Amino acid sequence: MTEKRTPMVAGNWKMNGDRSLVESFTNALNDKAFDRMDVIVCPPSVYLSMFNAEHFQIGAQDVSHLDNGAHTGDISTEMLKELGARYVIVGHSERREDHNETNLLVAKKVARVIESGLIPIICVGEALSVREAGEEKLFIGEQVAALFSEVTADQLKQSVIAYEPVWAIGTGKTASPEQAQDIHRFIRHVLSEHDADLADGIRILYGGSVKANNAQALFSQPDIDGGLIGGASLNTKDFIAICQAAI
Ligand code: PEP
Repeated sequence: MTEKRTPMVAGNWKMNGDRSLVESFTNALNDKAFDRMDVIVCPPSVYLSMFNAEHFQIGAQDVSHLDNGAHTGDISTEMLKELGARYVIVGHSERREDHNETNLLVAKKVARVIESGLIPIICVGEALSVREAGEEKLFIGEQVAALFSEVTADQLKQSVIAYEPVWAIGTGKTASPEQAQDIHRFIRHVLSEHDADLADGIRILYGGSVKANNAQALFSQPDIDGGLIGGASLNTKDFIAICQAAI
């Protein structure tokens, strides 16, 4: 990892957790001084305001691309900001699959998030069938390129990208450090066609069955700046060990 990119580990609780998990995470993470990295916890939005985060930051798992109004069940960027969120995961594969989120909708959400002053963690990644067909770079290249229909390279500079191969999410099957590095370098290459500084400066996290025992090997790759963690982000000890592997 280059000196100028600050390591980051973000936990995605998905539809898990309760008040007591909020409390144990708040206590455990506030007890640590993560001063050379960014640590983010992304609980379900209903729990955002229950955190009293001092040494870490909180983020949401999704957001509407629309402004406040007649959109039943949706949550706006302004609402997330009021609850203390700083980051928003956008385009997670579970949103793309379960809620038919397209590349265009993801790009619109990214635009809305950036405009609001929040920071998007933009997820990309291929399904197993795409990898087996040898088309992962074509697929991921399209996911990344689609962002530029709604935002400029300059606007993307503070954003974070997460490469999450769908076949590795929640499966216990991790991409090898070499496989992950290859895609991270490719994502920088796609970005460099728009802006070399963007490609060099943006943080790209790896996600997909990251655990305390494989985090270091993944995070030590030159183009991997940390991780987006699902299952292991629900346990304070495991999550802290993964954070420590990123420094
Ligand atoms: C995720 O859903 O973002 C994820 C990476 O999950 P897991 O770590 O459980 O594979």
